[in-house]
Amino acid sequence: MQEKAKAVGAKGINLAGICCTANEVLTRHGVPIAGNVLQQELALLTGAVEAMVVDVQCVYQGIGQIASCLHTDIVTTSPKAKMPYARHIEFHEDRALEIAKEIVSAAIENFPKRGKVRIPDVQESLIAGFNHEYINYMLGGRFRASYRPLNDGVIDGRIRGVVGVVGCNNPRVKHDDIHVRVVKELIANGCLVVMTGCAAQSVAKAGLMLPEVAREICPQGLWEICEAVGIPPVLHCGSCVDNSRILIACTAMVHEGGLGDDISELPVAGCAPEWMSEKAIAIGEYFVASGVYTVFGVKWPTMGSKNVTDFLFKKYGELFKNTWDFEPDPEKMVGKILSHIDSKREALGIMAKRERVLFDMAMRRELEI
Ligand code: SF4
Repeated sequence: MQEKAKAVGAKGINLAGICCTANEVLTRHGVPIAGNVLQQELALLTGAVEAMVVDVQCVYQGIGQIASCLHTDIVTTSPKAKMPYARHIEFHEDRALEIAKEIVSAAIENFPKRGKVRIPDVQESLIAGFNHEYINYMLGGRFRASYRPLNDGVIDGRIRGVVGVVGCNNPRVKHDDIHVRVVKELIANGCLVVMTGCAAQSVAKAGLMLPEVAREICPQGLWEICEAVGIPPVLHCGSCVDNSRILIACTAMVHEGGLGDDISELPVAGCAPEWMSEKAIAIGEYFVASGVYTVFGVKWPTMGSKNVTDFLFKKYGELFKNTWDFEPDPEKMVGKILSHIDSKREALGIMAKRERVLFDMAMRRELEI
């Protein structure tokens, strides 16, 4: 394929991902991200894309028409997602490599039609790939893999709580703005943030997924932990369908002990500040039904019915011990999350920050073991 590309005058073959497909190929194969969901049309407008492969979800209807103004081929791979202006190369798992070569060959054939290229000179680095298994390893090493350091950090107040910030970009609000404001505020208030989806990409673009950010923004307790472990205060956990990883981490925190007997007792919260996909609602429901207080922003779809809204925002508290909530204002959203976390800390009896005491020899001798 490389030889083929060079034969038509290209330097090589460059792969880049958009939205959660990008998160999948980034965490598994280190393929860089070109942007999140609302940047899919902008990526084409660089003029540097010979083929864009799309599947079932989060593909805008206008993408084919935009591509028709350029030299780009839109390639649909699912029979459920055919669209005008696109060519269809159906994906079958048993012929994956062969089909991939067919798509790359089509892209190479397009290269000589390339016109003016305008790629913005903006780049940012990030560290990704924090799934449950890696968090375990990172905190305890290969032989002592454990969530103990995380639980201890929460118990002694160096970590105020853990917040999952997930979900889409929403064209009704300024691109990426709410995600970045919410996450900056949460880490500045001592919360460890775990992220998935296009939300994670927003925050990565703002440079918040780098370890050095901890000392710049976070209070001392949180940055000390981040520095000791070697992690950023904002952890990229994968694509939007990887939210299950966040719940697995919550379950591991409960099993580790010291923070209650159920997910609903943990000082944790979930939010999707810019959600738009129906899938986000399904994922949110899975969080709330598992006992996690979950706030959504922008718009809430049941506001037309007081009964349904009361059921979700109040009655769910009796059923699942925590509820849905809705708050479009990013500052108020953070305020609600922090008061929820503090109420859980209060209930667990860990509200007061415990000072770390370094034992000298005399104190050690007095210990009764
Ligand atoms: S986070 Fe939302 S917009 Fe982004 S890929 Fe997932 S469902 Fe689509």
